[in-house]
Amino acid sequence: MKKIPTEKDKEKDASLSDTSVEKEISLLINNIEGLDEYRLPQRAYQIVRLSIRDLILRPGTTILEREMAEVLQMSRTPVREALVRLETEGMVRLVPRRGFIVKPIETEDLEQIYEIVETLDGLAVSLATEKVGELEIGELERLIEQQEQALEQKNLKQWAILDDEFHHLIIDYARNKRLRAVIDTHSDQLYRARLLTVDDRPLPFHSIVEHKAIVACMKAKDGNAASVLMQSHRNRARNEILGVVENLIQN
Ligand SMILES: [Zn+2]
Repeated sequence: MKKIPTEKDKEKDASLSDTSVEKEISLLINNIEGLDEYRLPQRAYQIVRLSIRDLILRPGTTILEREMAEVLQMSRTPVREALVRLETEGMVRLVPRRGFIVKPIETEDLEQIYEIVETLDGLAVSLATEKVGELEIGELERLIEQQEQALEQKNLKQWAILDDEFHHLIIDYARNKRLRAVIDTHSDQLYRARLLTVDDRPLPFHSIVEHKAIVACMKAKDGNAASVLMQSHRNRARNEILGVVENLIQN
């Protein structure tokens, strides 16, 4: 299967003992709300999941239980529990005698995920259209404005975060827990691919135009039109991202 060359193939192995990785993980921990209320395995799971999602732990990085336990200042048992859960979710892979490896981004995976998520995002926006009022529409419009500002400042990381928020909010507004759970299972992988490719894709001006059109349909209570627009928005992004990923793999 085709894979993006990992950092390890290219240069050094970004290990957990790398102080910059440790520092980034501590920063991340400070930014997760309500972390103290979680049980230890849940806490470890959230921290490692978000570290992978945000590319602090890059594709191909080896995660040793012992090292991760040290960074998180907990015993190895909750760390192992978290890693096993992430393995079932397809974020890491257990390699005998090496430990857990952050899964590389693979085109086949991405294609399959997009096939599911495009349709479900369309469903989510049509459900949301029935349920939103002025307040919710206002929230979405505020996010689009912030995206425009991020784009003006060429802050693409910030733009990617806001894009994720925009899509998450629409899924929230659909108020369907099961739908949300299915989409959530896949959204980390997509976020990671978006983040990895954001600098190599055309500036996302199109996205802003499409987001505005989607919200306009929601405002007009036209769930069908919103759904069609959402699916084509996701489809265009898919083609752009897969194009860049293919390129990264070949080079
Ligand atoms: Zn978008």
